[in-house]
Amino acid sequence: MKTELLVENTADIDKAAELIKSGELVGIPTETVYGLAADACNPKAVAKIFAAKGRPADNPLIVHIADTSMLSELAENIPDIAYRLADKFWPGPLTMIFKKKFCIPEITSGGLDTVGIRKPAHSAALALIRSAGIPLAAPSGNISGYPSPTKAEHMMRDMNGKIPAVIDGGECSIGVESTVISFENENTVRILRPGGVTREDLLEITDNVIIDPAILHELEEGQIVRSPGMKYKHYSPNAHIIMLEGKYDNFCDYVNAHSGAGVYSLIFDDDDKMKINVPAFSYGCDSSEQAHSIFSCMREMDSLGADIVYVRAPKAEGVGLAVYNRLIRAAGFEVIQV
Ligand code: AMP
Ligand code: MG
Repeated sequence: MKTELLVENTADIDKAAELIKSGELVGIPTETVYGLAADACNPKAVAKIFAAKGRPADNPLIVHIADTSMLSELAENIPDIAYRLADKFWPGPLTMIFKKKFCIPEITSGGLDTVGIRKPAHSAALALIRSAGIPLAAPSGNISGYPSPTKAEHMMRDMNGKIPAVIDGGECSIGVESTVISFENENTVRILRPGGVTREDLLEITDNVIIDPAILHELEEGQIVRSPGMKYKHYSPNAHIIMLEGKYDNFCDYVNAHSGAGVYSLIFDDDDKMKINVPAFSYGCDSSEQAHSIFSCMREMDSLGADIVYVRAPKAEGVGLAVYNRLIRAAGFEVIQV
């Protein structure tokens, strides 16, 4: 199959909408990462997503809508707080989990009786959903386990020849996936996956925000898995990622003592590259810059042939919590204090 690169104009969006309506997959830009989209209510189309990504069948897909009014067609028992959160953060990187209605097939929800829903903040994604008139199931568009795509060229690398089209909507502004929350009760939300909407943002709507322990720690045997995606090694390039946490001088001492062919480092923009004797790349200064570039940097390290990448641990605050969460998973929880 030839994968066509579409752009964001009416003719191409309508072409993509026709593909979606006929049960095909389209790579779509969002503000978080690129997604691999299909008609959320068509089980055969959704099965193609799992096949193209090599995604485990029990890992549910997020359903994307263009208007909050679509919510009650897909979900039930929607608490009032969900509407307050939608008013504040939609369109945007917040996925909320609800009891699903019958129209969401089991394959979309990974066999769960719940469904995660969000309204993305990207004009091309919204135009496509409106043109097709259908909610879109869209996980990140990478091969399962690999870093998420944040540019159309990343989508092409992973999906070229497997899907009919990718819409090029430029670089994703945020760069990490959405924040996923569930509702514990009328006023308490639990963050299952950190993302662009931070804990501090959520605290503007409710005082009761729980951070699920699985965000920062490896799941233990028998622990409840509230977010199936947290079970898997994830976001991980071919290079072996090792995260070093501590002062920059200690980072340099450690890396310099472990230098060799194929060893690279990933540091902050304002760190002094001259102090390191392996190739050093940077992934930004503040947390938003780091979120924006982390996946792209990991893909680039692979294309350079890196075997080992020592990454300077980001500050786990604000959107930095999401960057930290992706990196510890990419590192398979290999974090060394230096
Ligand atoms: P992705 O679209 O690749 O970013 O993956 C979506 C992630 O959202 C999954 O890996 C899950 O961890 C989480 N998720 C989606 N739907 C649900 C749900 N119904 N219950 C719990 N977690 C969910
Ligand atoms: Mg993903």
